[in-house]
Amino acid sequence: MRALYWNGRNLEFESAYRTPVAAGQTALVKVHLAGICSTDLQIFKGYMGFTGVPGHEFVGSVVEGPQDLIGKRVVGEINFGCGRCDSCARGLSRHCPNRTVMGILNADGAFAECVSVPLANLHVVPESVSDEEAVFTEPLAAAFEILDQIQINPGDDILVLGDGKLGSLCAQVLRLASAHVTVLGKHEEKLKLLKHAGVRTVQFRDWRPKPFDVVVEATGSASGLELALSAVRPRGTLVLKSTLAGNHQVSLAPIVIKEINLIGSRCGLFPPALDALREKRVSVAPFIEKIYPLHEGIEAVSHAARSGTRKILLEP
Ligand SMILES: [Zn+2]
Ligand SMILES: [Zn+2]
Repeated sequence: MRALYWNGRNLEFESAYRTPVAAGQTALVKVHLAGICSTDLQIFKGYMGFTGVPGHEFVGSVVEGPQDLIGKRVVGEINFGCGRCDSCARGLSRHCPNRTVMGILNADGAFAECVSVPLANLHVVPESVSDEEAVFTEPLAAAFEILDQIQINPGDDILVLGDGKLGSLCAQVLRLASAHVTVLGKHEEKLKLLKHAGVRTVQFRDWRPKPFDVVVEATGSASGLELALSAVRPRGTLVLKSTLAGNHQVSLAPIVIKEINLIGSRCGLFPPALDALREKRVSVAPFIEKIYPLHEGIEAVSHAARSGTRKILLEP
């Protein structure tokens, strides 16, 4: 099959990569669309030391697997748990110590014609949700994870740092829980899209510091953390969403002095995200910038890496 392959140094297009098989409790999914996310760009900087086929945001249809799933349009949760440990037993396979992660840790991903996915990870996409919307399920689920981790009150003043792909989704999801969501960003176009989705926006150069009950750091850059710490009110909550390659220096003193609740937040469950897409409670399709064919994947990745780019998709 055709696939993009990351060998640890370069991303290459391969026209004859080994096609995975649907063995045991897995299905073979033909990829319709796959999304390039910041985590992929971090992987190409060495994050997780991954080699293999990248890509963890996808929508496709089942071509091999149980009869009742053949031809069904699906999305898939990306953490492949062992199914036997304590974390898995508690429904937290995304924290299974023995897990592999699609396109990130010891499992080939979706920048390919086909991807192999455990049956337990698959979710059928409702008919009213298009491929262009469904491909956002994974990052949208990551945004919903925040609501699973912390209690948001309707009156809470919330700041989302970063108008990128994940920041935009976090803002829309938090908007479902509180009427007072502000996004601080640098990109006029993206801020305009968010304003259309009912979120308050502030351009970075016009920023006047004020304390917020909840701050979500989704800038994808190390410098965001310091700004985030300064924007949380005493005893407020800071949610960290950016996954970054490398180590970074930051003073932890403000966390102690202001008694900040610090929450790391990563992947979420898919059902709330699929429900929100089906009920049109969030808007995702306007955030697509361009769809590239798979064989132009290397160009697509360099496009996605340009600052200010909205979502870039691959169509195998
Ligand atoms: Zn992602
Ligand atoms: Zn496990």
